[in-house]
Amino acid sequence: AAKEAGRNNVCCYSSDLHHHAQEQASLALALRHALQREELEVYYQPKVELKTGRVTGVEALLRWHHPELGQVSPERFIPIAEDNGLILPISDWVLETGLQQLRDWDEMGLPALNIAVNLSARQFSDPNLARNVVSKLRQYEIDAHRLELELTESMVVQDPAHAISVMRSIQESGARLALDDFGTGFSSLGQLRHYPIDTLKIDRTFVQELAEDKQDQAISRAIIAMGKTLGLTVVAEGVENEVQVTFLKQHHCDQIQGYHISRPVPQGRFIAWYRQQLTKR
Ligand code: C2E
Ligand code: MG
Ligand code: MG
Ligand code: MG
Repeated sequence: AAKEAGRNNVCCYSSDLHHHAQEQASLALALRHALQREELEVYYQPKVELKTGRVTGVEALLRWHHPELGQVSPERFIPIAEDNGLILPISDWVLETGLQQLRDWDEMGLPALNIAVNLSARQFSDPNLARNVVSKLRQYEIDAHRLELELTESMVVQDPAHAISVMRSIQESGARLALDDFGTGFSSLGQLRHYPIDTLKIDRTFVQELAEDKQDQAISRAIIAMGKTLGLTVVAEGVENEVQVTFLKQHHCDQIQGYHISRPVPQGRFIAWYRQQLTKR
C-alpha cells in the first residue's frame, strides 16, 4: 500500500530520476521472489525453414507475470536481474524448463524440435557456463546439438579473445551458438569470421521495413550473403508479413521467426499450434 501511494504521489519525489530508481528497486525486490512464487513462465516462439515450411524448433522467451503490474517486459527486468545477480538462477531455470519441455514433447511423440535459449552477459562471463550446460544436457538426456545458445555482439566485442574461448568451450559440448540481433553491434566482417558460431540472426529492425526501405533491403541481402559465405544458418527475426517472407525467400534466407508465423506463446498453445501445422503438411 505504501508502495502504491508512493507511485501515485509524484510530488514526494525530487526528480523523475529518483522515481525511476525507486521503481527499479521495488522491481528488483519483487524479482527476488518471482521464481519461488511461480510468477515466471517460459513462452515458446517457433522458427520455420523457409524452403520447406518445416518447424525446426523454438526460442525460449522468459515472461514475468507480476502480481500487481501484470506482464513486465524482459527488456525491463533482465537488466535488473543482470545487476543484482538473479540472472544466474533465473537463467538456470529457463534452461532446465526448456530442456524438460523438449523431453515432454519427445515423449508425446512429436517430431523432434530444437530449442534456442538466450544467454545473458553474466552467464557468458561465468567460467562454469560450458560445464553447467553439459551437465544439464545429461540430466535431461537431450542431444547437445538440439540446444542453441543465443548471444549478442555486445557480449563478444568487449573482449573478443576471451569470448571466442568461451564460445569454443560451448561448441565442444556439442551445443550450437547463434549471434542474436546481428547488425546492431558493430562487429566487423573480419571479426565475424573468427567467431565459432552456427547461426546468424538478422536483427528485427532491418526486417521491419523490408517492404519500403531500400537500405534495409540492401543490409538484409548483405547479411544473408555474408552468413551463407561463412557457412552459417541465417535466421530473420521479427517477420510480420508476407512481403517480408517473399523477399527473404528470394534471397535464400534459411529460417524465419516472427509474429507472421506465431507470437511467443505458453507451451500448451504452442503444442496446439504445432499439431495443426503438422496436419497441414
Ligand atoms: P531476442 O532474443 O532478440 O528475442 C526476440 C524478441 O522479439 C522477443 O521479445 C520476441 O517476442 C520479439 N518478437 C518476435 N517476433 C516478433 C515480431 O514479429 N515483431 C516484433 N515487433 N517483435 C517480435 P521479448 O520476448 O520481449 O524479449 C526481449 C529480449 O529479452 C530478447 O530479445 C532477449 O534479449 C531477452 N530475453 C528474453 N528471454 C530471455 C531469457 O530467458 N534470458 C535472457 N538472458 N534474455 C532473455
Ligand atoms: Mg534471442
Ligand atoms: Mg533477437
Ligand atoms: Mg533483442
